[in-house]
Amino acid sequence: MNFGTKAVHAGVTPDPSTGAIMTPIYQTSTYVQESPAKHKGYAYARGANPTRNALQKSIAALEDGKFGICFSSGMGATDAVIKLLAPGDEVITSNDLYGGSYRMFKKVYEKFGIKFHFIDLTDVANLTPHINKNTKLLWLETPSNPLMRIIDIEACVSVAKQNNILVAVDNTFASPYLQNPLALGAAIVMHSVTKYLSGHSDVIMGALVVNEEKLFQELAFIANSCGAVPGPQDSFLVLRGIKTLHLRMERHCFNGKKIAEHLLNHPKVGKVYWPGFTNHPNHAIAKKQMRDFGGMLSFTLKNDSIEKATLMMESVELFSLAESLGGVESLINHPASMTHASIPKEERIKNGLSDSLIRLSIGVEDVEDLIEDLDQALSKV
Ligand SMILES: *Cc1c(COP(=O)(O)O)cnc(C)c1O
Repeated sequence: MNFGTKAVHAGVTPDPSTGAIMTPIYQTSTYVQESPAKHKGYAYARGANPTRNALQKSIAALEDGKFGICFSSGMGATDAVIKLLAPGDEVITSNDLYGGSYRMFKKVYEKFGIKFHFIDLTDVANLTPHINKNTKLLWLETPSNPLMRIIDIEACVSVAKQNNILVAVDNTFASPYLQNPLALGAAIVMHSVTKYLSGHSDVIMGALVVNEEKLFQELAFIANSCGAVPGPQDSFLVLRGIKTLHLRMERHCFNGKKIAEHLLNHPKVGKVYWPGFTNHPNHAIAKKQMRDFGGMLSFTLKNDSIEKATLMMESVELFSLAESLGGVESLINHPASMTHASIPKEERIKNGLSDSLIRLSIGVEDVEDLIEDLDQALSKV
């Protein structure tokens, strides 16, 4: 089945009792049983819920995976993966990571005796020197936030496999429409469903997709034991959102390309970070592992200052100044003072994240209107 057909149909069957074409919101905490040892696959809703089950099947199908598990947030999903580990285990991850993941690894799990190495994984050669007998997990995020760096998933998997290391990929920025890490050899795909999968800025949710049954059982055990499960209303909203994922992604990519190219030629703009440019340092890998280049991009002003960037972001009218991404509406964000404010300035600048860097999540509006809005805001700086 092709992607768009899966987006519309996968996991969803007409409701057996009424024929309702949309999966009902099974708003229940428990299920009545015939006898103590006999139930219809549902005993208590932390363990299973039919609306959530339909969504899990849908997300698994979109990633071409066998098993999906949904969580109450993207961080809840990441948390379940780290709970596979034990004190003394080590994790290798990139130095250009979602801030919330960095915070969980450093501030929550280091004190449980798990060691994290944050390194530049855009060069796979950096991986081997950090591997030792305790290395259990490689956590990848690509494209990265906010500099849109690309990591070669297949090359990292090949090194990890030789060393028996589990590979998990945070696939939030790409969405399953653009990139399928399981097909590239990863064992776990993680999504902040909050973003493109849900797509309408109205849900917080996370998901994991895996192919191996044993790994699935372990993660499902953690999900049920620790309890970060999403509710049926949110599951329904995401089931609804996914039906147009392919259509939205097509428009996100189309608009993203137009805006990246427009900004590149704008006299007030310095650098534009978008993996679709042929001179992007990791363009060849992006082309190899992604179907298109997405609707996320960042840029700097020629005049690099927080004041000018702030003025630009206060001047937009159609774009909304907000954190998050992947929704139908276009958002503008200032990493230096918003999403990445916790990183010390010197570290930030060293990593290439300058004061005037502005991140855009391009929505599905008409691109001419978005460009007009950016132009009028840029004319003020
Ligand atoms: C938002 C996000 C997360 C966290 O997901 P939540 O649903 O907000 O918990 C993780 N990784 C990436 C890349 C994200 O953008």
